[in-house]
Amino acid sequence: MAEKKYGRFWMVCITWKVVCLCGVLYILIMETTLILNMDYSILTKLSWQKGITLMLKGAITPIEFHERRILGANGEYYPLPKVGMVKKFISFKYTATPTRRNIFLRDNYTCQYCGVKNPDKLTLDHVLPKWQGGKDTWENLVCACFKCNSKKGGRTPSEANMPLLNQPIKDGGRRYYNDWGLSEKIK
Ligand SMILES: [Zn+2]
Repeated sequence: MAEKKYGRFWMVCITWKVVCLCGVLYILIMETTLILNMDYSILTKLSWQKGITLMLKGAITPIEFHERRILGANGEYYPLPKVGMVKKFISFKYTATPTRRNIFLRDNYTCQYCGVKNPDKLTLDHVLPKWQGGKDTWENLVCACFKCNSKKGGRTPSEANMPLLNQPIKDGGRRYYNDWGLSEKIK
């Protein structure tokens, strides 16, 4: 009898935990703020926390609100912005940065020394090694498999006798990822 009672107790506990978790997930996923540019094009989607901060700072004009309100430290209730528009037009100059992901995209996830595509371990290789003054630039970073990367070590391709399959370039194609420095611009 007692076992049955406790079994039920735990069932209620687990159900409540699931309900709470779903609620938190709902708030985190669904209650976002869509930020529009002045021409109504979509700039980005932010968490409601960031959205309300921008609204209170006066950086965005709220257009639509979520139903839920939150209690501020001053005892006032604030609506959560669902859609907000920036107050000045944001224009973009495309400048993709040579991040790990972007270099992988440019080189099509292919080792630039042996030509193997999608190896087990794909790494970034500095053509001119860092210790020789090599920089983190489009022209000095290539995809390399782990094997080639360790074989080349701290040498240049000619020192290691490992010619590159393609000369690394900055092609500026729009397939690369960039957050456009949005968080900085909206402020
Ligand atoms: Zn390789």
